[in-house]
Amino acid sequence: MSNSFDILIIGGGHAGSEAAWISSQFDLKVGLISGPGASLASTPCNPAVGGVGKGQVVREIDALGGLMGIVADKAGIQYRTLNESKGFAVQSTRVQVDKELYTKYAEELLSSRDNLSIVREMVLAVKRNGEKFIVTTESGNIYSSAKVIITTGTFLAGKLHTGEEQKAGGRVECQESVGLNDLFSEIKTLPNRFKTGTPPRIDRKTINYSVMEPQESDFGTRNFHSLSEPFERNSKQVPCYLTRTNSETLSIIRANKERSPIFNGQIKGVGPRYCPSIEDKAFRYTEKDIHHVFVEPEGLNLESIYPNGISTSLPKDVQESFIQTISGLENAKILVHGYAVEYDVVDTSELSRLMEYKDIAGLFFAGQVCGTSGYEEAAGQGIIAGINASLSFLGKESLVLDRNDSYIGVMVEDLVSNRRDEPYRLFTARSENRLYVREDNTILRMNKYRKSLGLSTRLDFFQESIIDEVEILEKLVDSTMFYSTEANKEYFSLKDYGTLENNISLKELLRRPNLNPVIVLEAETVRVGAKFHSDAVRTVAIASKYEGYIDRAVIESEKINRMSKRRIDWEVLADSKNISFECKLRIKQIRPETFGQLQRIDGIRPATLAYVAGNLV
Ligand SMILES: Cc1cc2nc3c(=O)[nH]c(=O)nc-3n(C[C@H](O)[C@H](O)[C@H](O)COP(=O)(O)OP(=O)(O)OC[C@H]3O[C@@H](n4cnc5c(N)ncnc54)[C@H](O)[C@@H]3O)c2cc1C
Repeated sequence: MSNSFDILIIGGGHAGSEAAWISSQFDLKVGLISGPGASLASTPCNPAVGGVGKGQVVREIDALGGLMGIVADKAGIQYRTLNESKGFAVQSTRVQVDKELYTKYAEELLSSRDNLSIVREMVLAVKRNGEKFIVTTESGNIYSSAKVIITTGTFLAGKLHTGEEQKAGGRVECQESVGLNDLFSEIKTLPNRFKTGTPPRIDRKTINYSVMEPQESDFGTRNFHSLSEPFERNSKQVPCYLTRTNSETLSIIRANKERSPIFNGQIKGVGPRYCPSIEDKAFRYTEKDIHHVFVEPEGLNLESIYPNGISTSLPKDVQESFIQTISGLENAKILVHGYAVEYDVVDTSELSRLMEYKDIAGLFFAGQVCGTSGYEEAAGQGIIAGINASLSFLGKESLVLDRNDSYIGVMVEDLVSNRRDEPYRLFTARSENRLYVREDNTILRMNKYRKSLGLSTRLDFFQESIIDEVEILEKLVDSTMFYSTEANKEYFSLKDYGTLENNISLKELLRRPNLNPVIVLEAETVRVGAKFHSDAVRTVAIASKYEGYIDRAVIESEKINRMSKRRIDWEVLADSKNISFECKLRIKQIRPETFGQLQRIDGIRPATLAYVAGNLV
């Protein structure tokens, strides 16, 4: 193996694996260097992929040619459709995966790329050398590359906490990395480190499942990868279980506040507000003692169970006593205690929307090192960094996803528009356009981006065929009429479509409140003798059902975004006599490219926005 690469990725978590996978699809020489302790694309916390807002990201990654959806489908052991009761427009897929199988399949896929070399060692330093970067590893090996993507997750100067015990580490049983400034001295880090935590893992043999509520896998939930058979299951399906904390659990935790590293000052890092530890919950919601605990398998052949909802860094003896107060966990034996990890984070206001460090061309960042939390967020950034590093190497136009039609676009713009003061997690309320940015229409939303990459694979042909089918189906639902004849009335009654007083179109039928539009459209395509892919049927059925709402939401968000997309010259603003000194400091720091980015910067005053809107855009 030569030591010179076109693209070199440091860190093989979800961000790094995704960056390596997509970069290897361009005809480039790609290297992935990752520490020896953690397997590639490993899941150190909850082994589940997707969820509300995150399922959409997995499908967006998939439509761009990513890895996560393919691997999750192969390793999925329990499927759920979240928000099922709230209607199709806001539903998301969540797949519990077997953590051993997940990383096994990810490693197999990555190893199958001839132009991707995988090296397992820790990187100690990255330096610039003219147009290239020089990367030095722990064993003294030296690599050079035109582009470098740093995706080192929670490892940078990582410090683990369990009660009073503190030790260096990137995660349990993994060596930490040097800190971000030792790795690359020119990078600006955030002044506050971030932290995240994980629950204890429990021995499955010591759990009494009979008192818990089982949640079976849903065979009606679709796979993530668009080229997988939608409902095929590649692994055995197993249930998850639900139990709850109680007043005894919470009183043990409350009695040990002084011994909690997040409350006694031992942990300085800022934790994820949207993913609180059980001690956070105990003190934030003092009136509430009952919290859900989802008891989830980590794998088909693994003894360890992940109790979702009780991440903690309390001392080991406190963990042991509060766990045993929970119904079904009275005899639970802890295999690995919960812990928190603190780590360095890059200041993402120094990054462009390509995930490139603005002052160092060719250097990209992605994943938890950018202050996000979650596998999907990491993978979403990884694919954008990988694509843009590759396009930049090839001298091609870069890829920026619009926040109006993708959650990845929302996340990237949010990240680069502010200096983060807490871990970032995606949820649907972050999007102005969430009725449109759905799982079912991902191919429609993402195809123009995928096309712009100039790749030509089975995925591209598939996406084109879906788009053609959607067009034909849209015409069909508009033009198919049910006249109020006796035969049609009888047909409606037979199919349980409701009454047929007046003539109606198929589209009007799909909007009837008590009908499942997907089932109706499937039946009607069969009736007219046409065969369509179930993805196309689903997209058109859901879009028809909610057309009125979606159109209104799109118009509203377009109004917001028309102005937001206007480009601004931050250097002109930073020099303007009409803008306050404090606002100019923020503008110089963030260097916004659009009016929307300017709007999202904390501390920009309404008067500044009014001035810019009225005079400069
Ligand atoms: C204790 C813990 C709790 C978590 N809790 C949650 C949670 O509650 N909710 C949630 O959504 N997410 C949680 N996560 C986060 C989730 O694991 C991450 O969001 C996701 O794995 C980030 O992916 P990544 O690719 O950015 O980095 P990681 O998965 O951390 O991968 C980083 C990779 O970089 C490699 N590496 C690091 N430094 C170097 C170096 N110098 N040289 C070479 N290789 C290097 C490592 O070996 C590793 O393979 C938790 C993670 C941990 C560790």
